[in-house]
Amino acid sequence: MSRLVVVAGPSAVGKGTLVGALRQRRPDIWVSVSATTRPARPGEIDGVHYFFVSPEEFDRMIAHGELLEWAVVHGVNRYGTPRGPVEERLADDVPVVLEIDLQGARQVKESMPDALFVFVAPPSFDVLLERLEIRGTEDAAERERRMETAREELKAVDEFDVTLVNDTLDEAVAGLEAIVASAR
Ligand code: 5GP
Repeated sequence: MSRLVVVAGPSAVGKGTLVGALRQRRPDIWVSVSATTRPARPGEIDGVHYFFVSPEEFDRMIAHGELLEWAVVHGVNRYGTPRGPVEERLADDVPVVLEIDLQGARQVKESMPDALFVFVAPPSFDVLLERLEIRGTEDAAERERRMETAREELKAVDEFDVTLVNDTLDEAVAGLEAIVASAR
């Protein structure tokens, strides 16, 4: 059986782009499609980017134990990983990647401690601040709040098995590909 690979990291570190590029390059690796209560953005397709569900449907999925993990992300919408498809693919020995937030990764660590946990890190704290678009346009309190969140999120690195620095996209994708290969 393949070992589940969980990719997480601080907000704005670029993990979505990274996993998207991996998917393009390696169609044989299955990337889980999450359920979310957030509305679809233009161009997003139900069942491809996410399963867009109502809050009631999300409640039902939780009540029936259908989610491997779930979390409220950015204080508003809920996101969760449907359990069934992940378990089926792992049983079929298909490599599986989850791209989720830190809270979700902690839950998976509780339920599937044998998974391989990959922390996507920025090249530096300053680069992360740039990617968070922390600029002079926010007031000082808001800037400080976001920086504090970023600092807290970076501390989670110690909870992970592997750190992958997201500097240039091509190199990071190659790194992730190698990590997924090592989890087989
Ligand atoms: P976005 O709304 O920009 O697509 O995603 C926002 C955040 O939700 C990202 O940080 C992403 O990692 C996280 N996320 C996406 N799917 C899941 C999921 O199934 N579970 C958890 N815990 N987080 C998720």
